[in-house]
Amino acid sequence: MKKSSPPSGTIAYFSMDVAVDSKIPTYSGGLGVLAGDMLRSAADLEIPMVAVSLIHRKGYFDQRLDWHGNQLESPAKWSPEEHLVRLPTKVTLSLEGREVCVGAWKYIFRGVTGCSVPLFFLDTDLEENNAADRGLTDFLYGGDERYRLCQEAILGLAGVAMLRKLGYDDIRVFHMNEGHSALATLALMEEQAGSLPESGFSEVEIDAIRRRCVFTTHTPVPAGHDRFPADLVYQVLGKTRATTLAQLQLMDGSLNMTELALRLSGFVNGVSMRHGEISRGMFPNQSIRAITNGVHASTWTAAPFADLYDRFLPEWRRDNCYLRYAVGIPLHAMRQAHAQAKRELLRQIRWLTGTQLDEKVFTLGFARRATGYKRGDLLFTDLERLKQIARHAGPMQVIYAGKAHPRDEGGKAIIRRIFEAAAALANDVRVVYLENYDMALGKLLCSGVDVWLNTPLRPQEASGTSGMKAALNGVPSFSVLDGWWIEGHIEGVTGWSIGDASGVENDSVAEAASLYEKLAQVILPLYYKEPDRFAQMMRSAIALNGSYFNTQRMISQYVRNAYAAARDLAVQPLD
Ligand SMILES: *Cc1c(COP(=O)(O)O)cnc(C)c1O
Repeated sequence: MKKSSPPSGTIAYFSMDVAVDSKIPTYSGGLGVLAGDMLRSAADLEIPMVAVSLIHRKGYFDQRLDWHGNQLESPAKWSPEEHLVRLPTKVTLSLEGREVCVGAWKYIFRGVTGCSVPLFFLDTDLEENNAADRGLTDFLYGGDERYRLCQEAILGLAGVAMLRKLGYDDIRVFHMNEGHSALATLALMEEQAGSLPESGFSEVEIDAIRRRCVFTTHTPVPAGHDRFPADLVYQVLGKTRATTLAQLQLMDGSLNMTELALRLSGFVNGVSMRHGEISRGMFPNQSIRAITNGVHASTWTAAPFADLYDRFLPEWRRDNCYLRYAVGIPLHAMRQAHAQAKRELLRQIRWLTGTQLDEKVFTLGFARRATGYKRGDLLFTDLERLKQIARHAGPMQVIYAGKAHPRDEGGKAIIRRIFEAAAALANDVRVVYLENYDMALGKLLCSGVDVWLNTPLRPQEASGTSGMKAALNGVPSFSVLDGWWIEGHIEGVTGWSIGDASGVENDSVAEAASLYEKLAQVILPLYYKEPDRFAQMMRSAIALNGSYFNTQRMISQYVRNAYAAARDLAVQPLD
């Protein structure tokens, strides 16, 4: 018999974006992919979890690029009814003094043993609402400050109300993925007090909330944290709720969502060891731990490697630890699987762009959000140097993908510069830029290139996860030492570093020089002259990094550290 009532001791996971499937554009990038992978692993490990997000009927956006690399954006419309089940349940939320009705759609993540984790997408496109309110759950990271605050109120406040109405009475932990859902804490305060008391909350009462809240921060730069002007908060949330936030001393001119989540959470973590340190520096009064991100292994392993693991490590899907034994897979089988993945990528590129890349040529991959700190154009610092390397050390080709946020002009300029470099290099190094980076493309790229490149400005890559996907497919990383790569990097074994980790300031000139030097002296010679040693590195990337940087390990760390600690310790602030 299947149990129909929600399980007891549930973990409720809140995330503004969740990457469920390439056909469901309710995510923009790493944060959403992480959320999706977390839920997939929760289902695999039979962890009682439930998740809340918004429906984003017009998605993030569809990206097209013209001949000069100018980004053209259009809504990524999709039909929820094709993928999700609409629930009859509705809740109301007061926004700007109006009662806004919120509905929900359900998606089920099904784990390896058949266990399910439901995800509820909140939706305001209901007849009960006026035209403007019906659009509140349309765009992911779109609109102005007011729009974003309304969305965050829906996620946090209506999210908690919806879970209660769906029968989730026994939620042990509320896990906020990034500050967007921090207003869930306000809903918990209201629940606890019956209504918000005019006198504010005592530390004992706040502590009771903190025992149930876990907060994961993802942003290592202060400008990345959501912040709303105090008068907007009063206008949108109303006087009672805004006053409560003011009593918590969280409304000094503006409301910072990260600070709200920090204040009300008993366990707080960054997403890599380094990011934990950086976050402690940003919020010195706060106890901040680190749980390094991961990826869902079977989701991100391309078919040729999945077949290989099924043959040699048959239990790997149920227990990712078995990937450790990839060291025993014969090198020729490794090479064969990779050749197949590479062929599939090149076939898709031909189909998408008409360009036929060469299977035998060393291929670098770079796919990430186009934004300043990711420095997508660092590889093109010195085009003459790059041409020389290709001439003397061996031919190479480069594959790019990535969207710039519609308001990120600097990010858009980087895409144009990559197009310019591609044109200038046309006879020496083939460079292709693929449109509309999404999960499907991500999987093809991470598995089909020979080396995965990453060039962030330190310490801005909180973790990064695409290099972990590459490792699962035996693709070594070549990256600046930041985020997860500080932990995953063993020089010449799992990949290579660009520059070193010393010095606080980034020196783009020195880092570009290190990049060229290693390409010319180490990576290309290894690829072309020592295929066995290259294949050994592929194997170590899987055994050392694939077996560890996965969401199965990550979620068990959340269970053992975060979820247990939130309840037992409710870590006190240091002041
Ligand atoms: C994995 C993934 C990301 C995150 O990768 P980073 O290494 O953090 O840049 C972003 N977008 C898509 C589509 C992905 O698949």
